[in-house]
Order: sequence, then C-alpha cells, then structure tokens
Amino acid sequence: MTTTSNCQLSVQPQPSSALRPETKERDQIAEKYKWNPNHIYPNWVAWEKDLETTPKLVQKICAFKGRITEGGDILAEVLELLDTLEMTFSKLGCYAHLYFDSDQRDNLVNEYLQKRAIAGAKIGSELTWIAPELLTIKQETIEQWLAENPRLEPHRFGLLETYRLQKHVLDEASEKLLSYTYQIIQLPANAYEMLATADAQWPEVTLSTGLKRITEPTYSEILNTNCNQEDRRKAFNAVMSVYKASINTYASLYNGVCQGDWCYAQSRQFESSLHQALEGDNIPIGLYSNLIEATQSGMESVRRYHRLRKRALKLESYDLYDSAIPLVAHFKRYPFDSVEQLVSEAVAPLGTDYVNRLKKAFGSGWIDVYENEGKRTGAYSMGVYGVHPYMLLNYTDTLEELFTVAHEMGHTLHSLYSHESQPYATARYTIFVAEVASTMNEALLLEYLVNQTEDPEERIVLLEWAIDQTLGTYFAQVRFAEFELKTHNIVESGKPITASTLDEITYQQLKATYGDCATLDPLYAHVWARIPHFFRTPFYVYQYATSFAASAKLLQDILPKPDESRMQRKARAETVDRFLNLLRSGGSDHPIDLLKCAGVDLTAPETIQSVLDLFDRRVTQLEEALIANGRL
Ligand SMILES: [Zn+2]
Repeated sequence: MTTTSNCQLSVQPQPSSALRPETKERDQIAEKYKWNPNHIYPNWVAWEKDLETTPKLVQKICAFKGRITEGGDILAEVLELLDTLEMTFSKLGCYAHLYFDSDQRDNLVNEYLQKRAIAGAKIGSELTWIAPELLTIKQETIEQWLAENPRLEPHRFGLLETYRLQKHVLDEASEKLLSYTYQIIQLPANAYEMLATADAQWPEVTLSTGLKRITEPTYSEILNTNCNQEDRRKAFNAVMSVYKASINTYASLYNGVCQGDWCYAQSRQFESSLHQALEGDNIPIGLYSNLIEATQSGMESVRRYHRLRKRALKLESYDLYDSAIPLVAHFKRYPFDSVEQLVSEAVAPLGTDYVNRLKKAFGSGWIDVYENEGKRTGAYSMGVYGVHPYMLLNYTDTLEELFTVAHEMGHTLHSLYSHESQPYATARYTIFVAEVASTMNEALLLEYLVNQTEDPEERIVLLEWAIDQTLGTYFAQVRFAEFELKTHNIVESGKPITASTLDEITYQQLKATYGDCATLDPLYAHVWARIPHFFRTPFYVYQYATSFAASAKLLQDILPKPDESRMQRKARAETVDRFLNLLRSGGSDHPIDLLKCAGVDLTAPETIQSVLDLFDRRVTQLEEALIANGRL
C-alpha cells in the first residue's frame, strides 16, 4: 500500500479543544446566555405544590374504575384527567431537568427528580386498569361515541390507534408468558455494550507524533485531524483489530438480536421482523424497499466525491480512513452573538411568521448556551406544553455548533407550532417527522452560507460539510437499513448467521458503494461490529434517511428560483404553507400521512431522487470551488 508519510496537505487542523473556551462555573456566565426555568414554576415550593396535586388527580380518575364502558362522556372525562395528570408530570420533570442538566452535581435537584420518579411509579401502578377496561369496549361503539361526542375528538387518533395495534396483542396468559422473556431478549445488546466498551482492549500504537492508545474517540480524532496517512492507517488497523479479535462473539450476539426480533414478530403474528418494526407508526413496507432501491442510482456521485478528495488531497492511494480529513485548513469562528442573525436570515424562505418566532426563541431565556462545570454535554430541544421549548447547547463557536443551533431550532419551532395548534393528546410528534423540521433548517443555513460567502476556502469547508453530512445521515443509514433487512431475512428463512455471513454482506455493500474509487482494506468487512444501533435499536436508523429525504424534497420546492415567475412564486408559497402545516399537525395522524399532506411521498422514487440530486449538485459545486481555489 502506498501511503504519504509526510503531510502533503496544507492542513493543520486545530484540535476541537483549542476552540473551546475554558469551562466556567455557572454563575460566571451572563444571564442572557442561560435558560430561565421560572417560566415553568417560580420556585421549588410551587413545584412541590404541583406534585401534591397529582395523587388527587389519580383519585379522581380511579373513581371512574369500572365505569368507562358507560358512555362517551365518562370516557372523555377520564381521558381529559389523564391528559392533565400527564401534562403536570411532564412539567415537573422538565423543570427538574433544566436544573439537573445545567449542573448535574446538584444533589438537591437529584432528590427532587427521585421524588417525582417515586410518585410516577406509584401512579403508574394505580392506573393499570384503564387500558384493559377500555379494550372491553367494541371498536364500533367507540366510533359511535366519537361521532356523537365532540369532547372525544382530541383523542380520536389515539383511541383508534389502540384498536389498530390491538390485533397483535395476545391473550392475558400469552402476554404474561411473553413478558418473562423481556429481560432475556435484552441480553445480547447488554453483552454487546460490555464487549465493545468495558471489556475492549484498546492497543497502543506508535504514530509519527509518538505512542498513543487508540480508542474509539481517539480514532475518530485521528481520522479528522491527523494529516499523516500512515498514522491514519495504523489507527484504523488498531481499532479494527480489536473488533476482529472478538468477531465471532459479536456475530453470535447479533444473531441473538435477530432471533429475538423474529421470536417476537412470530409470537405477535407479524409477517416479518420488519413488519413488526414498522407497525407502530403504520409505515408501509414499500417505503423501506423504495429507500434502499432508489438510493442505488446515487452511488456514482458518492464515488465522484471520493475521487475528488483523492486528487485534492494529492494522495497516491485513497482508503476509507482518508475520507474524514478536511480538504482545507480553515477554521472560521461563529460567535453566538452572530448566530441569531445568520440563522434567521437563512430561514427567511419559510416566511416572516417562522422568522419572528425563531427570533423570539433566541432572546427570551429559552436557551442555555455555554458549557459550565457539571453541565450535561451535547444539545437538545425540549418542548414544555403550555410553556415553551427550552434548548440545551454547549456552544463553542465552531461551524459544527452553528449547525447544531439551526438543527435544534428546527425542533424548537416544530414544538412551538405543534403545541399552539394541537391539544395535548396529539401535540407530541414522532421522530419520523421530527428530523424533517431540524434538517430543513440545516439545509437552509447551508444554502445561505454558501451563497453569502466570498471566502473561497470557507466555501470549500461548507460544501465539504454538507456532503459529509449527507454521507453520514443519509447514505450510511440507507446502507445500514439494507444490512438489517438482509440479516433479518436470513434468520427468517431459517439460515445461519455467522461472522463470515455478516462480513460478506458488509464487504459487498462497501464494494457496491465505493467501487474502485477507494482501496478497501479487508478489515472493513468487520465494520458492522462497530455499529451500536444494530444491537440496540434494530430497524431504527432508516428514519434518519427518510427524514433527510423528506426535507431535501421540500427544500427543492421551497428555495427561491432565479428569475422566478409569478406561478413559481405562488407554488413556492404553497409549499411553505404545507411545511408549516406539517409542523402544526404534531402527532395528529400517522407520520407518512402527515408528510403526504406536506407534499412528500416517501414511497415514491422521485422523493429519494431529491436527495441524490442535491448531493450531486453539492459535489459539482465543491469541484468548481476546488478548481477555482487551485486545488485540483
Ligand atoms: Zn434532531
């Protein structure tokens, strides 16, 4: 293998820690950069008082035990009380979490969280009678009550869903028997966790910079920042050798996961494990196969990108471990005080109402911006029904963090619109639509930044960012989805799953993706063992890809066209309306139907084509930018 031992890149990436401001104590951070939990409760005394109302609510609900079959009014009363109870519990939890997540060392907050958890467990056990009692009512009766009683309307979707899913619920004795297996079925995932983390023996390797222990995080850092190809190769070999050493055990555990899925699918009378996985959200099987099949035609663009990288990096050979090193050294900072303007200008195509809400979210004590001692890591948006969403960030002025803000803002605006338009019962949306709102904001931000920048290097960084995001959030997830389908099919047809079966599927998939544009070290065949989702949450990752495809389709229709006609402008305004209606619709219907109302049909190859077209356009833009910058 030919490698470049000397750095041929004009890249000296800064380790991310260099961009991080020194961690402060929370009281050293200005109030305007911290969230304000008082919007939920003025203090802990008010919190405790609200917690004390919950047993009374439970008493009221339990007074209806044995009576919900009497008529629509009583059922409505019970469901409304349940909503109030759940809403109160959610508020109690959110308030405590705002304090806990901003400083996890606070033992007092921990006590409040435990108080709530104890109360919650007690309440849960007191209300177990509701679901079985509800299901003694015939579906026709419920439908009649729904037609006659407008108070039940907010619960229409939830009630009918209970009946739809009921056909896979077994009789009491069989359910009890099945419940004995729940803990056993978790064992392969738990054992995977131990094998891949606690018991993993990470080796030490001599790099050009000296001796280094290669763990998963250091491996990722080396791939992203070390411009010595030989170092990257050594790190790759070191990490993959750890998986290879236990590959038969990994395969055996994964077989356990697939067998467990198939065991439940058969017990509950599903045609396949995939049918069972898609049933919860009522997703048609055709969507899954469409996603995998329609994506195949985009592989040439993926290969084109890697060929470009090889040339731009001036590498004699190009392996997959060369795919993360930046093409240029450019580390622009994006201070938080400039973020509101950037993001609000970027989302302007979504209209003034959207922009105004977004501006409000920036300046009202909704966001916890900077890291402090004891603060939870990462980022999230948490909707509090009847109050407003809160956002946790650990902002460090990087491009990645800028996109995280846009992403979380997408979730925040989604919650705002949904909570305002929906009753509590249907305000919560599924992940299937959630990531459409967030990736839409990211895509608009990228479009805006690429169009705005006059710095040729920043342009390259932005395009490379967008392409890598699509490779990670879309193409890789589709590949994983296909892997899960193939492996589960093998189990369901009674054939064995061994390490060589899994290696073979993986290697063939990578060959089909990369062709001859990259050298594929044989160790790559074991890469399936590095994907925790396969073991923890089978048939989950496809949703990242479908969300991404849906937002790409909408983006295509939302972006203003040059020299737009009146008709085109009108069509664009209609798409924006449909998108905002999607946000308003929360969880009021099956996600696939909500998306159809927004103009996105995920069972159609054209929708998938939107991602492939967008990806191809970005690769072309990157090629042009590299040529203009004298790098090709
Ligand atoms: Zn998200």
